[in-house]
Amino acid sequence: MRVALELKDFSKYPFLKESQEFMGRDTEAIDQFLLSTAGKVAVRHAMDRIRAALRPRGTVLSEAELPADSLGVKMAVSGYVLARIIISCARDRGLAERLARYEAQRAYALLLDENPETRDFVAAGVGMEMAGSSLSVTRYVEVVAGLHEERWRLVNRDVHAGQVRVTPEEIDELLRERIRVILERQLPLKVPGKVCGMLQQQTDEVTAAFRASILEQFGAVEESCFPPCIQALVAALTGGTNMPHQGRFALTAFLHNIGMNPAEIIALFCRAPDFDLQKTQYQVEHISGRGGTEYTAPSCAAMRTFGICVGSDALCERVSHPLSYYRKKKKPEKKPEPT
Ligand code: SF4
Repeated sequence: MRVALELKDFSKYPFLKESQEFMGRDTEAIDQFLLSTAGKVAVRHAMDRIRAALRPRGTVLSEAELPADSLGVKMAVSGYVLARIIISCARDRGLAERLARYEAQRAYALLLDENPETRDFVAAGVGMEMAGSSLSVTRYVEVVAGLHEERWRLVNRDVHAGQVRVTPEEIDELLRERIRVILERQLPLKVPGKVCGMLQQQTDEVTAAFRASILEQFGAVEESCFPPCIQALVAALTGGTNMPHQGRFALTAFLHNIGMNPAEIIALFCRAPDFDLQKTQYQVEHISGRGGTEYTAPSCAAMRTFGICVGSDALCERVSHPLSYYRKKKKPEKKPEPT
């Protein structure tokens, strides 16, 4: 049953069409808005939102902290819009992923306290119409495409007459995933250069904060902790062995994911005897997200498919991703204190 959203709901679910309609602003006038007092406040909201997204667990607001008056709600929704604009100007796929994940987690936390009608309304708003506690097979398969737990596989589900049964808790999880994928797919937005120019200071700040958060996660780069597959790719590069496209991609994406910037990655590629600066620069920047390309390093399963997994050591047995290998090797699990 359709419900009408209340004022507060617009700031809770700013990605819904209704929330954008509530704003009723001509998006062409964004540069004018940025110059206004309200625009400056909204930029602060946007930066708070991005900073929250960059924290390790992306702190999420509680219902009590949400604005309840019209002006506050407008500022919150403007903050959401501007956060997406700033991230788009930064042109980094990793940042876009972080923001989309944060927005989805934020909505998920708020949805947990909603009544079923509002939940259904939000679900329908992101194209996940429910039939009671079931979802059509087609929609289900589409929504779970990015979820890798066994329980989501269709063979492990109760399917009847083209519908997949899901529990109320699972509906919330699927909704979170659906919101994440939709928001991520929309980024980067096409933002006029003039607007990006006006937001340069904010763009620089979030780019630096993102790099710092990656460094915090992975620490300084330590080649000795690279997994065997990546070490083999580096050796192939240095030795002038012809590297397949998938190997070049895996190596670049891995190095980008652990926090190396394009210049540092290019410096490593310089070791190749057939080094071509222009070509390398193009490839590295493309894989690093400049063109909106997917940048995440392939999983072990994908590396095996490409024939570039050389896994042989004990740690390989315990990981499913080269990045997990690197993280584990850099931070060995603490041994219990001797008694
Ligand atoms: S098992 Fe994974 S981490 Fe180990 S070499 Fe293969 S792809 Fe790399």
